[in-house]
Amino acid sequence: MPVIELRNICKRFEIKKGRTELILHPFRKRYKEVLNDFSLSLKNSGIYSLTGPNGSGKTTLLRIISGILYPDSGEVLIDNVAFRLNPNKVFLIAESDKGFFPRLTLWQNLRFFGSLINKDRKIVNDKIEIILNDFELTKEKDTRFQELSSGTKQRLAIARAMLFDPDILLFDEITKGIDIKQQHYVYSLLKKLRKAGKTIIFATHLINEIRDLSDQIILINQGRIVSIGSFEETEKDIKRIFEIE
Ligand code: ADP
Repeated sequence: MPVIELRNICKRFEIKKGRTELILHPFRKRYKEVLNDFSLSLKNSGIYSLTGPNGSGKTTLLRIISGILYPDSGEVLIDNVAFRLNPNKVFLIAESDKGFFPRLTLWQNLRFFGSLINKDRKIVNDKIEIILNDFELTKEKDTRFQELSSGTKQRLAIARAMLFDPDILLFDEITKGIDIKQQHYVYSLLKKLRKAGKTIIFATHLINEIRDLSDQIILINQGRIVSIGSFEETEKDIKRIFEIE
């Protein structure tokens, strides 16, 4: 049974008109086709990297899988069930994660999101305690969000996702803009999540992440799959698409 199945997904965006076009053709609409009849079936848990040039449709794809964005047509199935019936199974963590309260502390932020899931204070507090330990965030728990380093904010974003205990975690370029030490910390977290049986898809351009972290690589270009497989199986296509010697 596939963990994630995308069936014939199409998504297009309306292209914004310039002033001249707006005057000459006020009612004409033009569209950019971002995903065109995109199908994908991931059968196992593990770490998948989603890669491809800028504008190839990675973010759009992750947003559709997470349910933030609806496709124009096609279907998303999670464990064989239509995604709409199963929303808590998937969580998207984006690089520019802004959904925190800047003036609240790290703990207060987690407490707020925890309270959305469970009304029982003790259960939520216990869960937060475990997560703070797992993610080595205890030291910063009373620091306001706005004073946290970008690496810690990134870890917190993953920690928040774990409050919801999703089976599938989607990451959009999460190691962009954080230092190497924090990057490695995030890598070890991803490996821990893999060990816990989670399915992870992370969008990245970084060749070391693609090579060292992924069980499978999904290479896309212009909204279509170029190849799927191990690094060895996809290396030639990756080098061709990214024009690496
Ligand atoms: P990637 O993550 O691979 O860089 P994206 O999915 O962000 O690619 O974008 C694919 C294409 O869709 C780009 O050309 C982008 O400009 C366009 N696009 C993405 N989101 C929107 C939107 N909300 N409105 C209009 N165009 C969009």
